[in-house]
Amino acid sequence: MRIVAYLDELDMPVAGVLADERVITLAELAERAGLREELALLDVRSLLAEDEDLTETRAAVGRAMRAGARGVPLGELRLVAPLEPGKIVCVGQNYRSHVTEQGGSIPDHPLLFAKFSNAVVGDGEPVIRPATTRALDLEVELGVVIGRRARRVPVETALDHVAGYVTANDVSARDLQGSKPALAPGARGDGQWLRAKGSDTFLPLGPCLVTADELGDPGALRLRGWHTPAAGPDAGREILVQDGVTGDMIFSVAELVAFISASITLEPGDLVITGTPSGVGVFREPPVFLVPGDVVRVEVERIGSVTNPIVDADGAVPAGSPAARLLAGRHANAGVG
Ligand code: ZN
Repeated sequence: MRIVAYLDELDMPVAGVLADERVITLAELAERAGLREELALLDVRSLLAEDEDLTETRAAVGRAMRAGARGVPLGELRLVAPLEPGKIVCVGQNYRSHVTEQGGSIPDHPLLFAKFSNAVVGDGEPVIRPATTRALDLEVELGVVIGRRARRVPVETALDHVAGYVTANDVSARDLQGSKPALAPGARGDGQWLRAKGSDTFLPLGPCLVTADELGDPGALRLRGWHTPAAGPDAGREILVQDGVTGDMIFSVAELVAFISASITLEPGDLVITGTPSGVGVFREPPVFLVPGDVVRVEVERIGSVTNPIVDADGAVPAGSPAARLLAGRHANAGVG
């Protein structure tokens, strides 16, 4: 199953199930296919708390499809990030290619950090470059959404606690992070990653949550990132900058869930983002950073891509830039349904 989230008439996020180009709403499943009434208006995190393996939802979708469910055309809904996670646990330095590109050594255990929900945006929403940075960068990542509560779980059964997967962009301010190529001589950054990784809008998620049974092996996925610069010799051209495979992970999804759950209980709707492969802007020669007017796109195979315009701290972009065109198209579609 592919689960999306959309805003209802009260601007509250509600889960729905994607079927072709239509969304089967939980309300329709409750009305026509025997889904429990109390699930009908839930967002994805609350749905996972009630139906951790999505077994009930899946059965109702099967009945609804057989009964000729109508669904709502995708274009009539205001889609948002597939979930507002509870905890957001992030993993740094988890791809051999990314460790190699910065001349580092392979870590002997996962390096964890956190983001908060203020960072989450959906496909098409602006990523703000705050006035605090001049070195904004992308990181395509596989996002792991917890279904069944995970506390001190062994590697062997860790994947039983995963409900599904999303595409994520771990947007990073390299100067705040203290990454050498982004710093002026003598400057040091923050000394930790909270602002660098956790600023508002620094976690695009989407386009849907693909359930674990539908995705298959999370260790066999291609993931890519593209940058469309607003200026320079490649202005307006989408450039492939990251191209890796999840098989390059140092610690697998199962190992990460087990490792984290040894000290942090993971609840339904918590998110783990699992690190990025090589190709990020800060380690290019010369470094390339995202500026207002640019567009960034990340994609994980079998899940889909998430595209975001970069705007300045006031939400502004240069006229005619790739970001301006993307935002204009988005506003033209806004308000439908
Ligand atoms: Zn990352």
